[in-house]
Amino acid sequence: ARAALLTETTGPGATADGHPVPLLANIGGPRDVEAALMNGAEGVGLYRTEFLFLDRSTPPDDAEQERAYREVLEAFPEGRVVVRTLDAGADKPLAFLPPPGEEPNPALGERGLRMARLHPEVLRGQLAALARAAAGVSAKLEVMAPMVTDAAEAAFFAAACRDAGIERPGVMVEVPAAALRARDLVPEVEFFSIGTNDLTQYACAADRQIGGLAALQDPWQPAVLDLVAMAAAAAADAGKGSGVCGEAAADPALACVLVGVGVTSLSMSAPSLPPVRAVLARHTMDQCREAAAAARAARSAGAAREAARALLPLLP
Ligand code: PEP
Ligand code: MG
Repeated sequence: ARAALLTETTGPGATADGHPVPLLANIGGPRDVEAALMNGAEGVGLYRTEFLFLDRSTPPDDAEQERAYREVLEAFPEGRVVVRTLDAGADKPLAFLPPPGEEPNPALGERGLRMARLHPEVLRGQLAALARAAAGVSAKLEVMAPMVTDAAEAAFFAAACRDAGIERPGVMVEVPAAALRARDLVPEVEFFSIGTNDLTQYACAADRQIGGLAALQDPWQPAVLDLVAMAAAAAADAGKGSGVCGEAAADPALACVLVGVGVTSLSMSAPSLPPVRAVLARHTMDQCREAAAAARAARSAGAAREAARALLPLLP
């Protein structure tokens, strides 16, 4: 029983009937690695690189970037490390990269990959530092772009990665257009990572910075589950992976639903890993699929949550 409990809280992620679901950590830099390892992360599913660039008027120099990436890669010699290129914009302001004009709607402005296209030298510098950091390390480096809308953007990013010697480019699916047309994007990249925080914000037209809109900024919204399912199905049909790296993955019941909907890995902040691992280990893939179907058949976020929970008997 003790051995079972140990794997339930620290082993690799899997459903009760043995379908592997890699459980990865969301980190902001090398200082988060220890907590990720302590909580049994199998790798990094989202390395938010903004923190390296925060509070400074010039970008970190090449050597400093390379060091910050290499330190994380070396911590997961057998794992995947998914690094997200800079997600700057009026919503995540960086002093050295101000948006080009006034933005009354920062969430709809020049941000993420859009900003990288305005400043290709910043993207090129970051990709070059990543390629150098990955040279000679055994971890599998994957690099993804934030705020990708269509296949042309995905192709632009994948080409920039391959030019830099990065072989596994991916995109975040966090704009509804990208989820709706995931079949157009998938041939351009090696994987999807679904960002449910922004995907929910955009699907429900509810600014994630406004606390009063929390009821709409809810990833249990059946419309959000449908968008996740579309992205996951497009990836699966192409033989590619689709993870979720938004806050949704950290809710144990929703994590089961996401797996049931077809996502192939989950990434979350380190303290959420053990409870998600334990709940997944207590439910079969069929139970996850049934909970997902019930949640998608519901007509509100609250009803979706209740319907799923009723079919996941071993939630705490
Ligand atoms: C997301 O949008 O779900 C996501 C993971 O990215 P961020 O929260 O950094 O925007
Ligand atoms: Mg996002």
